[in-house]
Amino acid sequence: MDPKGQRVKLNDGHFIPVLGFGTAESKEVLKSEALEVTKFAIEVGFRHVDSAHLYQNEEQVGQAIRSKIADGTVKREDIFYTSKLWCTFLRPELVRPALEKSLKNLQLDYVDLYIIHFPLAMKALEKCKDAGLTKSIGVSNFNHKQLEKILNKPGLKYKPVCNQVECHPYLNQSKLLDFCKSHDIVLVAYGALGSQRIKGWVNLNHPVLLEDPVLCAIAKKHKQTPALVVLRYQIQRGVVVLAKSYNKKRIKENIKVFDFELSLDDMKAIDGLNRNIRYYEFLIGVSHPEYPFSEEY
Ligand code: NDP
Repeated sequence: MDPKGQRVKLNDGHFIPVLGFGTAESKEVLKSEALEVTKFAIEVGFRHVDSAHLYQNEEQVGQAIRSKIADGTVKREDIFYTSKLWCTFLRPELVRPALEKSLKNLQLDYVDLYIIHFPLAMKALEKCKDAGLTKSIGVSNFNHKQLEKILNKPGLKYKPVCNQVECHPYLNQSKLLDFCKSHDIVLVAYGALGSQRIKGWVNLNHPVLLEDPVLCAIAKKHKQTPALVVLRYQIQRGVVVLAKSYNKKRIKENIKVFDFELSLDDMKAIDGLNRNIRYYEFLIGVSHPEYPFSEEY
């Protein structure tokens, strides 16, 4: 952790800000909003921005980053930008062109972190790092066995720096977190606020996280909101956390995560809420041999 406690060191020496701005939004929302909210997020202090080819907003998100560099708010090196390789580009020869396409849309020279979904493309991804197109490489939605498979790969040149997975008090991923920590891999939490609850993406039968009575009581005690409590929970347990919002009031609220602290008792009470509720089940992939969520962790 760096002195201000707002960044952690990755296993390849780069630093990642512990609070990230999530940019995924449903198809109904205009892409121009991604430009507006990403600029706003940088203005209020977010320095880590999470996007992907799949979200179809890299053009706008890149434009936002470049405009905040152009007006002097930040320098390129102040921003940690993550992009992701979608499943249709996993053949090794498609990896670099996919990253180059993202860079073209972003109009940036490099990304800070490039994440994949399956081990197949690891070698090709290492080459992207060597070519300077990404500073770091990582994975997403991997269970511990899939991580182990990568770590044991003969000739592995770079370990993944992170595993980005769904993580919140109802699915706290404590075993996967311990596994990641023991291998110096940062766990990055998505769906940390309980997900966007978009029909078709998310199992809507699950309870609304931010309405949980225990979280509401802890929030009230600290004169904070349940959203800030769940974000703070992750940072205090060594998780890098993404917070998606397209609402300026809530974007501004989320950066306040550094202004208070949860006690050990609060942390224990939140740990006690775990009930293995997975909002994003990705059921479309359930019959695939690499479907990651059949394992306990
Ligand atoms: P989150 O769990 O971060 O947020 C869910 C919802 O909470 C948002 O839609 C937002 O609505 C609302 N919200 C934000 N701040 C507050 C607040 N202070 N109080 C109350 N409500 C709030 O959403 P995601 O599931 O999208 O996850 C975050 C990011 O993770 C994504 O945007 C994406 O970048 C990444 N992701 C990665 C995946 C992967 O497979 N690797 C899968 C899913 C997500 P509003 O906009 O109206 O404020």
